[in-house]
Amino acid sequence: PSLEDTLLSAIRNIPDYPKPGIMFRDITTLLGNARAFRRAIDELVQPYAGSKIDKIAGIEARGFILGGAIAHQLSAGFIPIRKKGKLPHETVRVAYSLEYGLDEMEMHKDAVEAGEKVILVDDLIATGGTAEAAVKLLRQMGADIVASCFVIDLPDLGGRARLDNLDVPVRTLVSFP
Ligand code: 5GP
Repeated sequence: PSLEDTLLSAIRNIPDYPKPGIMFRDITTLLGNARAFRRAIDELVQPYAGSKIDKIAGIEARGFILGGAIAHQLSAGFIPIRKKGKLPHETVRVAYSLEYGLDEMEMHKDAVEAGEKVILVDDLIATGGTAEAAVKLLRQMGADIVASCFVIDLPDLGGRARLDNLDVPVRTLVSFP
């Protein structure tokens, strides 16, 4: 089967979650499928193999799982970007609006050094608000954001255009209209 078919059949669709009218794209089934998980990671890292990436920044929580695997594959370090109040050391913080409400996210101030090449990772991009907030945190500390990677794109919600406006290239593997 094609990569797209492998991934599409490994993603579970959950109607009316977390709210009526929302179709939630559940990647736990993809993560639990050894072949689909490996193919997704291999495909996401493929353009960056051989380029020197210093760090992968993963967005809590599903971005940690994908980002950890990608960091290992690229021999890069890992930066956790977390919901507020979870990180124990000095942080930078940003407020952002997401598909289902308002929140704040944080990153350790010493997680990245100015000029380091970073790839941002999450499972899915919808409006791009979450990823944009992560871009702000990373850039505040001087990171050079080489790309952002997501397994799933919801193109109708405009996230890719939002990151394009920030000059952050976007890589996604499958999309749902
Ligand atoms: P955005 O900020 O781009 O509107 O929303 C993306 C964020 O919300 C990501 O952190 C993503 O994990 C989460 N998210 C929104 N909708 C879904 C969904 O249908 N499935 C999954 N797995 N995550 C979602």
